[in-house]
Amino acid sequence: MRVKATENYDMIAKILLLGEIAVGKSSMILRYVEGKFPGEYQATIGANFLVKNVRVIQKNGTRKSIMLQIWDLGGHVRTISHVGPIFYQNANGALLVYDLTRPDTLEKLPLWYEACHMHAPRIKTLVVGNKCDLERKISKEDGKKMARRLNSVDFYETSAKTGDNIEQAFNSLALALIGR
Ligand code: GDP
Repeated sequence: MRVKATENYDMIAKILLLGEIAVGKSSMILRYVEGKFPGEYQATIGANFLVKNVRVIQKNGTRKSIMLQIWDLGGHVRTISHVGPIFYQNANGALLVYDLTRPDTLEKLPLWYEACHMHAPRIKTLVVGNKCDLERKISKEDGKKMARRLNSVDFYETSAKTGDNIEQAFNSLALALIGR
């Protein structure tokens, strides 16, 4: 992959999408980077990571430019124990994603949180409840509670299908990485 000179960016950040299978991680990446929802087709990224350049504005008005390298778990990852340490290494941030129609996926988030902190101790994480276009089985309050428990930099409910809050969630993590 060809990458523009690093001088053009204030930061290059490796961010990970973590969470149980089928919560919508690949779909969120494709929505964010390419503006598409692959629907029932297998949402495979087909590369180790996708790149998105993002501009954020800090509280004092300073504009910053960040190159996000967004990593997805491969299709072979069916449980947390299938993720090797290299995937986490040097990661700056992670979206911890649950499916708000499946309570088991929220309950697993602390394990994902621990796994990424074990290999990337200074990683910053943001909890996301995806599929908010569907009928929920997890209240917003319960999602927020988990976000507080996991020291999340922010909390969003998103839909990769409609695009709701997808950009906001990624951009909020990017801003937290460069410093608000
Ligand atoms: P991953 O295994 O976490 O990467 O999940 P995928 O991105 O492959 O998505 C799993 C399934 O959920 C696919 O059938 C997607 O089309 C569907 N899906 C993903 N995000 C959403 C969403 O926001 N809303 C709805 N209704 N379906 C979604």
